[in-house]
Amino acid sequence: SIKVMSKPLRWLVPALVVLLLAASPFLRVEMSAGGIEAMPIDPTLPYDDENIFAKILLGEIPSNKVYEDEWAFAFEDINPQAEIHTLVIPKGRYVSWDDFSTKASAEEIAGFVRAVGEVARAKGLVEPGYRLLANIGAHGGQEVPHLHVHIFGGRPLGPMILRR
Ligand code: 5GP
Repeated sequence: SIKVMSKPLRWLVPALVVLLLAASPFLRVEMSAGGIEAMPIDPTLPYDDENIFAKILLGEIPSNKVYEDEWAFAFEDINPQAEIHTLVIPKGRYVSWDDFSTKASAEEIAGFVRAVGEVARAKGLVEPGYRLLANIGAHGGQEVPHLHVHIFGGRPLGPMILRR
């Protein structure tokens, strides 16, 4: 057979796979047919002040900010899935749409909803159209435990959800 790896290296790949599988619960990744995916968050847990969007709000982690007001903060998604892919988050400590819609004040809710509309308008998306999306928990595939609404646009976006 063709010798592709030296003897010590032959054990390295399976060893790394086993290590990754063993560590997956701690890395917040899971295996699926599509490969390694981030593990969805549990939207019933209390707010985690260490989450990545909390740090973006505090400016501890940089982001490409596109909008900010008293109630909301908007920034470009780090891994865009459309020509325009912007995230809008409320400034309050809310894990998910469920948390927000039950606990936020009428002012916070109005401020956040208006901010989402304002960002879409500022991006010139009203006339061509756009899509809003909020993932909640496991079935939604929510990865960050701070409520965020995705704004997608810039081209026709195709079917509403993946059917399988
Ligand atoms: P979810 O799956 O929770 O609805 O969406 C999370 C989104 O946040 C993903 O689209 C992901 O690309 C984005 N994201 C995750 N971490 C960061 C980050 O550190 N910075 C920015 N700008 N976006 C992030």
